[in-house]
Amino acid sequence: MKLEENYSLLKHNTFGMDVRARYFVEYQSVSELIELLQSDIIKQHSLLAIGGGSNLLFTKNFDGVVLHSKICFYETTRETDEHVYLRVGSGVVWDDFCAVMASRGLGGAENLSYIPGEVGASAVQNIGAYGVEVADIISRVETVEISTGKIRLFGVSECEYGYRESIFKAALKNHYLVTAVEFRLDKMPQFKLEYGNLSEAVASVEPLTVEEVRKAVIAIRKSKLPEPSEFGNAGSFFKNPLIAATQFNQLREQYPTMPHYVAGNELVKIPAAWLIEQCGWKGKTLGGAAVYEKQPLVLINKDHAKPEHIRLLAAAICESVADKFGITIEPEVNYI
Ligand SMILES: Cc1cc2nc3c(=O)[nH]c(=O)nc-3n(C[C@H](O)[C@H](O)[C@H](O)COP(=O)(O)OP(=O)(O)OC[C@H]3O[C@@H](n4cnc5c(N)ncnc54)[C@H](O)[C@@H]3O)c2cc1C
Repeated sequence: MKLEENYSLLKHNTFGMDVRARYFVEYQSVSELIELLQSDIIKQHSLLAIGGGSNLLFTKNFDGVVLHSKICFYETTRETDEHVYLRVGSGVVWDDFCAVMASRGLGGAENLSYIPGEVGASAVQNIGAYGVEVADIISRVETVEISTGKIRLFGVSECEYGYRESIFKAALKNHYLVTAVEFRLDKMPQFKLEYGNLSEAVASVEPLTVEEVRKAVIAIRKSKLPEPSEFGNAGSFFKNPLIAATQFNQLREQYPTMPHYVAGNELVKIPAAWLIEQCGWKGKTLGGAAVYEKQPLVLINKDHAKPEHIRLLAAAICESVADKFGITIEPEVNYI
């Protein structure tokens, strides 16, 4: 383990913010992590776990210790007639995991292909795309408690998963570090194609395999989202808001074309991208930051943006959506 000082985080955040960490350290195993958590430097500073930095907005230098998992392994734990259970290290790149599953013909992760980041964060964030959330395929999350260095296993129901939510982002935020995730994959994949234009994209593919669905997902994503190497970004900047059905019915009188999804419990989900576009933000810039032309839910680092530019642009968008529709939209991105 090497503790780096005054370390540049430029390569560790997809927004491309040129900020520094007072300390930066990577651990290769659970035992290394436990040893690290007992050190004075950890006890005396604030900690930040990062994966690929693809859902973070660093607003300034981080005056503490940034920890990054390099725990990288795959281990099959058990098999039934229907499923394979696989433990995967938190430092494995998420899309490498999806590629391995596709090559083995195991179903469940294909719709989540090409999401940036690492396996550990996937279980914190409850990543989702094309009608699938990672919670659907997680069976267990392995963690180490920061304050005690003790190992704790969370069954999927204990993770309190919701839309881009988990116990690790809420009640237990900053209490546990994810070291591995156990996934349950399908030997006989049942594809979910009804979301977005996925079914169209695979309509003529015969036979339909995990690999083919993965390819289609990647092609759609590439056509819609900017590569962080082209324009720094953190994917969808805002969550899609949930509003009361009564509020939706009133709004629909004024905006009959407002897209929506019924979300149960008298709640309706409205695509934040539509709200932002209706407020005229597509392509607008503020300093070096901009709203992506092809997908207004994505804020980009267009030209050497400072954290402040992104923050001010996001705040102005939230304000105008609230003024026009009376709907509060919230960032999905973690401000650090
Ligand atoms: C182009 C682009 C497209 C995207 N598309 C999607 C999408 O379709 N769906 C979606 O859900 N997301 C999407 N995202 C967001 C992002 O990829 C996910 O949120 C991803 O899970 C973040 O992973 P990461 O490893 O980069 O985590 P980071 O951004 O580094 O961290 C995210 C959070 O997890 C915590 N964390 C990280 N590792 C650990 C650990 N080992 N233990 C405990 N806590 C940890 C961090 O403290 C932070 O709170 C996209 C991002 C980009 C840039």
